[in-house]
Amino acid sequence: MNAVVDLRSDTVTRPTPAMRDAIARAVVGDDALGDDPTTRALEERVAVLLGKPAAVFFPSGTMANETGLQVLAGPGTEAIMEASCHFFDWEMGGPAALGGIQPHPVAAPDGRLTADLVARAIRPGALLQVRTGAICLENTHNAAGGRVLPLATMAAIRDLADQRGIPIHLDGARLWNASAASGIPEREFAATADTVMVALSKGLGCPVGSLLAGSQELMQRARAVRRRLGGAMRQSGILAAAGLYALDHHRDRLRQDHQRAHDLAAALSGLDGCRVIEPETNIVMIDITRPEIDATMIVTALAQHDVLLSEFTPTRVRAVTHLDVDDHAIQTAAAAFRTVLDELIPPASG
Ligand SMILES: *Cc1c(COP(=O)(O)O)cnc(C)c1O
Repeated sequence: MNAVVDLRSDTVTRPTPAMRDAIARAVVGDDALGDDPTTRALEERVAVLLGKPAAVFFPSGTMANETGLQVLAGPGTEAIMEASCHFFDWEMGGPAALGGIQPHPVAAPDGRLTADLVARAIRPGALLQVRTGAICLENTHNAAGGRVLPLATMAAIRDLADQRGIPIHLDGARLWNASAASGIPEREFAATADTVMVALSKGLGCPVGSLLAGSQELMQRARAVRRRLGGAMRQSGILAAAGLYALDHHRDRLRQDHQRAHDLAAALSGLDGCRVIEPETNIVMIDITRPEIDATMIVTALAQHDVLLSEFTPTRVRAVTHLDVDDHAIQTAAAAFRTVLDELIPPASG
């Protein structure tokens, strides 16, 4: 079991012994009644990190995203979002089903929306036309391979949004990675958005938890929406303690994950049968370039070598580095990939 190299996602990490100690020592109370000191401490800490007046702890990033969008946009409006973003592809139709908000997907090269693309998508405000209620940004962009949305782009979209009176939600599940890669503090990215979601359960290695940050007024409404969605928790300090621990001990090491993603990409580049997209952060996208092989075949064959990747599209597999993979695991994964390609690609005739 320990020999398995699990690169399916950065969500597969298990709490370290030291994190479990922090969990065991957590001082707790009933957070739905406002009594949990550890949850309060985490919310205050993340609010400061993101430069926002308040933050609210959530059981998942999906719930925090849905809540963030709902406090910004009302039913019968639409939200502009990149066409392969988490909201659109992975939240079970949440904006429409839960918020009555119609997604307006805009495809962008490398998943990077620009002020131009957003400007073209904003509704002019005609009498009989749906209104643009919000703009959603994602940084880093998962489906684009962990790409960083540049701060200048976000600032340009913010200027446009201000001119048009439209609020912005930032899906920052991996905003920590965007900061580690760019050297720009999280709060500078966050300053361009009204509501910001950050996850503890991805690169930071916590078992559970995400936060939503914004103004006092928006976060007060977010608490009500969270309750409506069934997300108000009781002794959540057990989980928040892991978050505080991770902010102290796991944030600075994200650069190692980025280095290992780069090392994996370098080890696979130039192999016959695949094309590796050079990673900016901790996500490596690998396109299968031989028609006789598909992603399912690669993932299945790798699993037989105890290396787990995820199938992203029929011709693309994804590997994500995280706390539980070291340099040796990267070498193991790269060697298995080479072996599998050799097995699957028929030898050239003649
Ligand atoms: C994982 C992820 C989420 C949702 O987080 P969960 O905690 O899994 O619900 C949202 N946005 C992005 C970009 C993600 O990668």
